[in-house]
Amino acid sequence: EEIDIADPIRTRGILERYGLNAKKSLGQNFLTHPQILKDIVAAAEITEADDVIEVGPGIGALTEQLARHAHHVLAFEIDENLLNVLDETLAPYKNITIINDDILQVDLPKVVSEELDGEHTLKVVANLPYYITTPILKGLLRSPLELEQIVVMMQKEVAERLNAVPGTKAYGSLSVAVQLEMNVSVEFEVSRKVFVPQPKVDSAIVKLTHREPREVQPYSKDAFYKTVRGCFTHRRKTLWNNLVGMHGKDDDTKAKLEAVLAKLEIKPGIRPERLTVDDFIRLTNELSE
Ligand code: SAM
Repeated sequence: EEIDIADPIRTRGILERYGLNAKKSLGQNFLTHPQILKDIVAAAEITEADDVIEVGPGIGALTEQLARHAHHVLAFEIDENLLNVLDETLAPYKNITIINDDILQVDLPKVVSEELDGEHTLKVVANLPYYITTPILKGLLRSPLELEQIVVMMQKEVAERLNAVPGTKAYGSLSVAVQLEMNVSVEFEVSRKVFVPQPKVDSAIVKLTHREPREVQPYSKDAFYKTVRGCFTHRRKTLWNNLVGMHGKDDDTKAKLEAVLAKLEIKPGIRPERLTVDDFIRLTNELSE
């Protein structure tokens, strides 16, 4: 049996042979610890019933582990220089498709319908390029694709923000946007030491699954995101100041905002991080009236 791509000696050998210098600008930090990759695949509960979408296969370390369990792996890699490498490292696996494209630009539902059979459960598993963690997550959450779960590695601090509860420092617009529809669980942490090159931050594996529908829904998701972003524009200011900043200072607007907050029994002087996800939903809906 071949040695895992993620084996530290094999990874270094591949990088040397192809003269690859990891590109910082593309968030290239390669994981060199086979067991951690196996733990990621286990956290995502990948079986033959699953097709997996991967973002950023790099030299194929995680892709390989996924391909050993999944029906098919569809991986998006932006860096053209890695295509030859992936051809070689992933040659033993027949159930992998590599697409050379930017995950933020690609028409994901179109590629999925072209490359996958539509008869398997869709999951996303990735060691994300950290510089675009938030736009990738937002894109996945807005996607019309039915994603059963998302299991991704990200900077530990960002994982803490996704998982944060109201009233804490880490709680902000990202927490609220994700928690609207998803359960967040931080599965385990990963030391910076297992990456080549070593990044300046530690990492964590986050698992996102669909939560039961909330009793009250926002009338529009875009309006909800807009309200949340607006309320968190100045974290250190009061909710009232953020709302006035967003909607205007004239007497009519102020009277309306006062009435909305009174109806929702929300004190104007609190900080935005005190509001729960349900508070933000009700606020969004009342402000539209
Ligand atoms: N999966 C590999 C691993 O675990 O060792 C590499 C992960 S590395 C943190 C992130 C990968 O994402 C790199 O291969 C990088 O080239 C790729 N990448 C960066 N920006 C991307 C984008 N916009 N679309 C697709 N892939 C991207």
